[in-house]
Amino acid sequence: MSLSREQMLVEMGISPIWVLRENEQPAAESVTAPLAVAATGQPELAPPLLQPTAAQPAPPIAPAAPLGASGMADIDTLDWPELARRVATCQACPLCQQRKQAVLGVGDLHPDWLFIGEGPGADEDAQGEPFVGQAGKLLDNMLGALDIARGNKVYIGNAVKCRPPGNRTPEAAELAACRPYLERQIALLKPKIIVLLGKVAVHSVLHDDKSLASLRGKRFEYAGIPVVVTYHPAYLLRNLPDKAKAWEDLLFARRVLREAASPVLPF
Ligand code: SF4
Repeated sequence: MSLSREQMLVEMGISPIWVLRENEQPAAESVTAPLAVAATGQPELAPPLLQPTAAQPAPPIAPAAPLGASGMADIDTLDWPELARRVATCQACPLCQQRKQAVLGVGDLHPDWLFIGEGPGADEDAQGEPFVGQAGKLLDNMLGALDIARGNKVYIGNAVKCRPPGNRTPEAAELAACRPYLERQIALLKPKIIVLLGKVAVHSVLHDDKSLASLRGKRFEYAGIPVVVTYHPAYLLRNLPDKAKAWEDLLFARRVLREAASPVLPF
């Protein structure tokens, strides 16, 4: 049974339900705030090479020779199928040793929204898709409340593609080893907005270790793409009062996306 938008908001713990009227600007979220972080100087983005697809786990990928760190040099030249093959066979960091499978991501290959989390958990490792299980359900409810869904103008990925043992936080070296794959995903996907879910994603994309509380409600940029920060759904499951803050962050992200799509022209 599908949930209505109001039911999704209740599921997220957002009640009483309120409606953001057109032209209404919540005081805590200044859309005219100056750019907080400059673009990272990444190379020019390459055009996506595949047409949009529905949210389906990637088809089986033919095995290839294992890759070590030295095999990462040409990552920024790969098309999507070759990128997927490289990730599936990657051995560039110790996380390859205990994974069932690498999890590249799932969704529309021409997305408006790119959500980036931390790394696969046990369920994701088993199923080959990010954000399944309870955290995935919450993320789906958050998307549904915005009238979007995974696979429909939405792509979901992670900072690292292989499950850290015991669901521990990925180490800095593991994040660095996997970052070229994430950067290539962003270059190929060319999303209109990136939403970073949690501190690990923030560290990987923005190289910023400040607290999430200090980063929320601000517009950052990566390679010219607006970036917004919010809590990881797994954190929200443990800290229910912060669901309302995550909802504020998503509304802010939607406004940033709309502004990016319709920039105000100077006089
Ligand atoms: Fe390779 Fe990333 Fe998996 Fe490490 S986490 S083995 S860098 S795909």
